[in-house]
Amino acid sequence: MAVDLHTHSRYSDGTDHPAAVVARAVHHNLTTIALADHDTLDGLGEARAAADEHDIRFIPAVELSVSWNTRAMHLLGYWIEPEAGPLQDRLAEIQQGRESRNHQIVEALQDLGIDVTMEEILEISGEGVVGRPHFAAALMQRGIVESISEAFESYLASGRPAYRPRKRLKAAEASRLAKASGGVTSVAHPHTVADNSNEFEAAFATFHGLGITGVECHYVEYSPETRRRLEAIARNCGLVPTGGSDYHGRHKPGIDVGVGRGDLIVPDLVVEELEAARPR
Ligand code: AMP
Ligand code: ZN
Ligand code: FE
Ligand code: FE
Repeated sequence: MAVDLHTHSRYSDGTDHPAAVVARAVHHNLTTIALADHDTLDGLGEARAAADEHDIRFIPAVELSVSWNTRAMHLLGYWIEPEAGPLQDRLAEIQQGRESRNHQIVEALQDLGIDVTMEEILEISGEGVVGRPHFAAALMQRGIVESISEAFESYLASGRPAYRPRKRLKAAEASRLAKASGGVTSVAHPHTVADNSNEFEAAFATFHGLGITGVECHYVEYSPETRRRLEAIARNCGLVPTGGSDYHGRHKPGIDVGVGRGDLIVPDLVVEELEAARPR
């Protein structure tokens, strides 16, 4: 029995409606699906309605960009309901910070002689949160770059000319807020914070100390061997080895809900373990 604990809809930088993401999960016979859009809970209502209709378990989630040890990392929050609450209330501030950062990116691109407008970016993003992948798509549409990754490498990634930072929560603060909202957290795609086994061990031990519950060991891009290795380290540190496809619809071609590139299996046992760690 498999689950997918990391998917995106068009409410952030995915391309599917929430109901379509849930339909992919049903198609692959998953027992549980979590929608974890970047910084927004706006898709959760539609996703839950679809999940109820199809009788699949739904976990309302969010993917937060946080800072940890001077590094940027992504933290998945689970059981974050779309209602008022400690973490929920901070999301409004985070969205404002993102919006002013987005305007700075437009200006930076214009200074580089690329006359993109915010209107154009909003048209590309559709509803929901606007992020750098939408700028990347605009650069591609204009023929300035040939791929999304070239757009990041040439313009949008940290250290590149159109990169502008935005305010982030600290990992410890995000973990505390998620708990105060009745949820738990798991570190997404941990290759972004460590390179080798020693670093993973040190990082995972610190995560546990921060009150983080899990770490995403069954990530779509990892080899079966890496998944097993990360899982062993996570278990050693008392962390739940979570996992997901990081489905983004057409923005990440070749990746499907539940199965990733075809070899992803996230055991549904991890959902019970995450749930057992929820504050009561
Ligand atoms: P933002 O939250 O607006 O700063 O955008 C961050 C998102 O951009 C991440 O969640 C990734 O989906 C995407 N991203 C970041 N770096 C790259 C990259 N080098 N290539 C492609 N996509 C990237
Ligand atoms: Zn994304
Ligand atoms: Fe991420
Ligand atoms: Fe993601």
